[in-house]
Amino acid sequence: MRLSRYFLPVLKETPAEAQIASHRLMLRAGMIKQASAGIYSWLPLGLKVLRNIERIVNEEQERAGHVPLLMPTLQGADLWRESGRYDAYGEEMLRIKDRQGREMLYGPTNEEMITDIFRSYVSSYKDLPLTLYHIQWKFRDEMRPRFGVMRGREFLMKDGYNFDLDYEAAMVAYDRHMVSYLRTYERMGLQAIPMRADSGPIGGEDTHEFLVLAETGESEVFYDSAILDLKLADRAVDYDDAAQLASIRSEWTTPYARTDETHDEGVFAEVPEERRRTSRGIEVGQIFYFGTKYSEPLGAMVANEKGERVPVHMGSHGIGVSRLLGAIIEASHDDKGIIWPEGVTPFHVGIVNLRQGDAACDAACAEIEAQVAAKGLEPLYDDRDERAGAKFATMDLIGLPWRITVGPRGIAAGKVELTSRRTGESEEMTVEEAVTRLA
Ligand code: ATP
Ligand code: MG
Ligand code: MG
Ligand code: MG
Repeated sequence: MRLSRYFLPVLKETPAEAQIASHRLMLRAGMIKQASAGIYSWLPLGLKVLRNIERIVNEEQERAGHVPLLMPTLQGADLWRESGRYDAYGEEMLRIKDRQGREMLYGPTNEEMITDIFRSYVSSYKDLPLTLYHIQWKFRDEMRPRFGVMRGREFLMKDGYNFDLDYEAAMVAYDRHMVSYLRTYERMGLQAIPMRADSGPIGGEDTHEFLVLAETGESEVFYDSAILDLKLADRAVDYDDAAQLASIRSEWTTPYARTDETHDEGVFAEVPEERRRTSRGIEVGQIFYFGTKYSEPLGAMVANEKGERVPVHMGSHGIGVSRLLGAIIEASHDDKGIIWPEGVTPFHVGIVNLRQGDAACDAACAEIEAQVAAKGLEPLYDDRDERAGAKFATMDLIGLPWRITVGPRGIAAGKVELTSRRTGESEEMTVEEAVTRLA
């Protein structure tokens, strides 16, 4: 992509309404534009990162054996009356009437709808286990939408639902979700800690939230610092191996880690003092087991091996896809701008031409562009007729992991400069060497 043809409406001024770094940076980097309170347009750069996050989520879900589908944003009220949640959900639910006077709602979550899909087609244990998921916009009429995409009213969520014959099988699904979530966040360059949480209005017995530590997080968290050393890295995970899944779950859930809702001072006191941490965190996901809470009222039954009809055991599992942009930026930025982890970066490398219109510089930039693309990576070439300082400031703000700078003096010596956004270190080398170094 060439910047002269792109749409990157970078702001010079820091927007006054933004209270936290990620919100400020997303506005300044031209990633989002507020449409109404808590509702955003995704401008091209923001959309690219959102799509990258979705891609990682999809890949990890499919790797775990979960099956994608897509349910609508608008739902009829009737299903929610069957589950008893239409009245119980409260003010966060946006209720709408169509022209026939039928009551509809903009889905805040999809337990009812997925259970209806399940009961329409599945009636035997032989079709289990089954986990269906989608990535779809949700609407929750939050009392205080704030911090940009972090607490929006319209937001993108991955929500998945497992259907299993009994408690034991549903726990395997729980572990599978925990492990696939750990992998998902790691691939985004994030440390998200599973913490024992409270089930809230979705209701349930077993639940963990995944939290990214950040001063600006809305949750208060308490944890044993030993949990920070845990990494899946390139461990081979076999999603059909229930024992391995359980052992990974227990590895992550043994060190103390709880949100304020479930925090217990007495248990926390047993953690060695030097490892006791209190901090704030951003909730980027949550997994729940809730048993037959929806399958019973909605009649989602299957025949078991003895031919008896039993309600399926379910759980639901969510990832805050749009919130993740804010969380990643909170965890990875400096005073110049965003620092994207390689896994989600909108472009892999920025090319800065210091002398636009100079035949040798222009040719070298075009050559770099072609070589980067040939590697399957995406460059953003700043080919505008702008001062070097302005070009560098834009690249620093939008946070691409690498920058290749091309100037007349270097080119005369056959060299360009490769700069790491994270360390700020620059090195002179040939075009080929620079391209080889890119991830
Ligand atoms: P919160 O406690 O922040 O209100 P929640 O517990 O109500 O979130 P869940 O029902 O667990 O949310 O939804 C799954 C995920 O969706 C959350 O972990 C979070 O990452 C994301 N999410 C929830 N509400 C919002 C929102 N208003 N804006 C952006 N993302 C959200
Ligand atoms: Mg909420
Ligand atoms: Mg919550
Ligand atoms: Mg939650």
